[in-house]
Amino acid sequence: MIYYIVEKKDDQLYLIENMLDKRYTLKTETNFSQCNGYLGVRASFETKMLHESRGMFVAGFYHKAGQHEVTELINCPDLIEMDLRINDEDFYLDTCKINGFTRKLNVMTGELDTYVDFDLTKTKNIKLRSRRFVSLKDRHLICHQLEITVAKEAMIQIVTGINGQITNSGVSHFDKVENRVFDQKYMYTKNRCDDEQLFEAMTVCGAQEALQNSSFQLKRRSVLGDYQYNLDAGKKLVFTKYSYIDTGTINDHSKIEAMQQSLINCEQMGYDNLLKEQIQSFDKLWKYAKINIKGATLEEEASIAFAQYHLFGMTPSDTSDCSVAAKGLTGEGYKGHVFWDTELFVMPFFTAVFPNIAKNLLKYRYKGLSGAREKALNAGYEGAMYPWEAAKDGREETPLYAALNIHSGVAEKVWSGIKEHHVTADIIYALWDYYKLTNDKEFLQAFGYEMLIETANFWCTRAKLSDVTKLYEILDIIGPDEYTEHVDNNAYTNYLAAENVKLAYEAMSALKVASPEVYHLFTEKYKLEDNIVTWKTFLEHIYLPKVNKDGIIPQDDTFLSKKKISDIERYRESNLKQSILKDYSREEVVNMQILKQADVVMLLNLMPGLFSEEVVKKNVKYYENITIHDSSLSYSAHAIACANIGDMELACDFFTKAMEIDLDTNYLDSNDGIHTASLGGIWNCVIQGFAGVKYSMGYVEIKPHLPNTWEEMQFYLMIKGQYVKIMITNKKIVLETDQHLNNTKEKLQFLINGEFHQLEEKLEIKR
Ligand code: BGC
Repeated sequence: MIYYIVEKKDDQLYLIENMLDKRYTLKTETNFSQCNGYLGVRASFETKMLHESRGMFVAGFYHKAGQHEVTELINCPDLIEMDLRINDEDFYLDTCKINGFTRKLNVMTGELDTYVDFDLTKTKNIKLRSRRFVSLKDRHLICHQLEITVAKEAMIQIVTGINGQITNSGVSHFDKVENRVFDQKYMYTKNRCDDEQLFEAMTVCGAQEALQNSSFQLKRRSVLGDYQYNLDAGKKLVFTKYSYIDTGTINDHSKIEAMQQSLINCEQMGYDNLLKEQIQSFDKLWKYAKINIKGATLEEEASIAFAQYHLFGMTPSDTSDCSVAAKGLTGEGYKGHVFWDTELFVMPFFTAVFPNIAKNLLKYRYKGLSGAREKALNAGYEGAMYPWEAAKDGREETPLYAALNIHSGVAEKVWSGIKEHHVTADIIYALWDYYKLTNDKEFLQAFGYEMLIETANFWCTRAKLSDVTKLYEILDIIGPDEYTEHVDNNAYTNYLAAENVKLAYEAMSALKVASPEVYHLFTEKYKLEDNIVTWKTFLEHIYLPKVNKDGIIPQDDTFLSKKKISDIERYRESNLKQSILKDYSREEVVNMQILKQADVVMLLNLMPGLFSEEVVKKNVKYYENITIHDSSLSYSAHAIACANIGDMELACDFFTKAMEIDLDTNYLDSNDGIHTASLGGIWNCVIQGFAGVKYSMGYVEIKPHLPNTWEEMQFYLMIKGQYVKIMITNKKIVLETDQHLNNTKEKLQFLINGEFHQLEEKLEIKR
């Protein structure tokens, strides 16, 4: 069940909390964050609260605070906090008498709107409204406005500015902080890390209508303005705060003037006009991103839009210097590291609708090739092995130790950074999907071919020729299911690795014939002729697990011989994630037929043609029964699998569970950040699952299985530079090119009902 109330008004969708329940403050701080792909600001209340975890994150702004620390996304100085005193009495939500409270996020614009009606001991009947958003037009900007009304004349004091006392759970990243005020108005901070990275912010606050008495003070690491107003009964004080944030290095030119100019522009425009610009900027994105569904519940509609709002918010749109963190820009969880979540869960939305953004995400991985080469070399392999967790420069960042062993009381080693290798093949899978949909040969030539070559070379040395089977086997590996470690021949990994090598083999062989001059560009750097022979041999001899006599694809060599446990439902139903590790040590879990998350099921989703329909059905059911879904990205994978086999009851059930990952009533979830993969997974459920969209070289297949209640769904895909509007009902599929962006004249091919169709302008096909 979704914790928030959903409201739709004038095409805007709101998630609303109309009561302050302190158990949910951290969750809502995360969910209602303001994010724009560059900046992420948690939805903490202005005045301090007992249960809060304030945070502001800048995409790609990572730092390692010490030799024994892990590189992490810096929790930057706070610009949201405001101390509010009314008639000399402090206002805190935890202690005041609340007469009315609503907090809502407009998922179509990212604006957070909070309203509190409260009494203090000395002053009654105070009304406070706070609104804020981070700008999409100028991604460095936070716009913030407070409105205060009092029933009787009152002295209002607001103390706010830049609070640099923020840390990442106690770890401070800045070793030199300079604060000052310009022109008796603009507060400024310059915070330096020991690696010469720089964080700068400038903020300006004030109210126009009221007589203002302001002064400034420096505190350790903070610069604060103190604003005092004598507010008449029934009058409204409108206090605005505009803040500009930038990051760079100490060698960059000073940005002070540009920052100040931006803030002056904001002051001139005012909050409401800036909000209008925000709506226009978002409208441009929604035009092609919005999925319209007739028959969907309001909760479904809002959850899909919520997922997309956060997908926009977590993904850098105009740089390839950084990628998507596992918690986006909404929290310290997973230290802001980048996982396979990006390529397989988040990227499909961008590949299909905003391919330029997908291209940047792939270029980030291209830039990470040197880190991946280093990782391969250190582990004794050739080519490039991508890190399980990456941050700024593409090196392996996975921490070495994490959870406690319940028996020994000692922290257990995290093996995923050492043994979970499928991420390399996942990146190539995503790269090829991008190519299939865009036909972007320039990208391949500049970046893609090298990635293909280096990753294929990695797999050829990672797999070892078995003396017994005379086949290449991938030993001592972890697949997507992290409750199974140190196994041999994880089916997912073997098949995806083979696909990786096959793509390299086919792409380079084809290039040699089609564009020998381009092919030769790579022969200087790589021994391509030898590589191609090696890849061919690998492909002829790679061990690809087959179905057993019961029709089950073994997850790995030993998985099906492990014991099952009878009380698995306890763990599947538990509100607590990974509750099984409270009863069993990791080693014990590793020896059970228990999955943390979709593994073989992911394989079936990604490579739909590998097995017969009957085998797919059998395996989806088999593995579902033994999966605890202790990773948030599992539900969406199962929803897609169930939709694809037409088990709509289960598909809808999983879809609901995926929608509820961040939004549900379980107050323990999401406190340290949203679940980016799960949010990407929601879009994937709708498009890859329900609409049944799959890409092949040269055509797009559409094989819908709509939920019973959905009468019609309509969405856009960008195929080879052309937006195509796709409408699916129970009776027909209608495809229409969007004339405005039709910059290529290529006729697009679709496979529908087993037949190929060519789209020129409009196509209507009966179902
Ligand atoms: C999952 C991984 C995922 C990571 C980050 C882990 O719990 O097992 O598959 O990449 O979380 O979301």
